[in-house]
Amino acid sequence: MIPLSAPELRGNEWKYLQECLDTGWVSSAGPFVGRFESACAAAIGRSHAVAVASGTAALHLALLVAGVRPGDDVLVSDLTFIAPVNAIRYVGATPVLVDAEPAYWQIDTGLVCEYLRRGPGRVRAILPVDVLGTTPDIRALTQLGRQFNIPVIEDASEALGSDAGKLTDIACFSFNGNKVITTGGGGLIVTDRPEWAEHARHLSTQAREDPVEGKHDEIGYNYRLSNTAAAIGCAQLEMLDEFIRAKREHAARYAAELAGIPGLTLMPGTPESTYWLYTVLIDENAFGISRTALQQNLARAGIESRPLWQPMHLSKPHRGCRVLGGGVAERLHRDGLSLPSSVGLKPAQLQRVATVIRESCR
Ligand SMILES: *Cc1c(COP(=O)(O)O)cnc(C)c1O
Repeated sequence: MIPLSAPELRGNEWKYLQECLDTGWVSSAGPFVGRFESACAAAIGRSHAVAVASGTAALHLALLVAGVRPGDDVLVSDLTFIAPVNAIRYVGATPVLVDAEPAYWQIDTGLVCEYLRRGPGRVRAILPVDVLGTTPDIRALTQLGRQFNIPVIEDASEALGSDAGKLTDIACFSFNGNKVITTGGGGLIVTDRPEWAEHARHLSTQAREDPVEGKHDEIGYNYRLSNTAAAIGCAQLEMLDEFIRAKREHAARYAAELAGIPGLTLMPGTPESTYWLYTVLIDENAFGISRTALQQNLARAGIESRPLWQPMHLSKPHRGCRVLGGGVAERLHRDGLSLPSSVGLKPAQLQRVATVIRESCR
């Protein structure tokens, strides 16, 4: 079986975990949490990092500290994993779903610009997602954010190790098992604003005002990352450059192996992309079989693959939301198939994937 995205645990994970167990620091206090935060802040190039229990928790807190309130609107990618759109609903705000552009499959900044120029109304934030590890036009988005005085909250969950999270007001990462690096489960917020970082940290620990007296000053959450999870994260982060190099090599190899197949579109990317999951588009008419049929062929050969997410404007919980465009996201969902992309994927395995795809083309 060739998995879609398996974690790569061959560094100091064992050693650091043993340290946690030997010292008894296994819960939300302990030296690895701070160490992991500092190392992440340095790797991403931001002043402050707050580690939390998941990427979804990071997005929830980022929206809160950025001042998004019930009744506000938030412009967000229509083609995305559902977590950021759910998080907008957690704070009582309303997602305004923005289609992808066809070149890089990222949020269409032209649509964002047009919408804001017509009058931003209740828009209180822009939440672009770095889909599959490529950043959208962040420069244009931050400029729009400044012009309309609304923060840009970046969902960089799939893009650690790229140019993600460096320029936006606040950025969120995920360390779920299938992401670029993992802590077993975890997330991170980075920002250059000390007051936002401090507030996020406060909210993540039940908003304790006075821990001795047991006083709290607002409704907080239990969103802290454990020391054991952070220990795994410290070990993983040491290998980030190597992981990114491997993923970019996989992407180059897939591009070479799959070139020239009729009806197959290779994944776009920039030199900075993480190529988190290498994804191709299958045009059923030109390729000869559907994306679903190709997925079944791959499964029969012991190869895991996965379609791109259903666009949020078609998803059950968010289908009532306003959507700007939507046709590109629909096409990417219909045709998109993510291929095995683990760091440890062997060239021979990649070649097997390519062979099954090539032989499936009629
Ligand atoms: C994985 C992911 C998340 C959520 O991360 P969790 O750690 O699973 O909560 C959010 N946004 C995107 C784009 C993701 O890919």
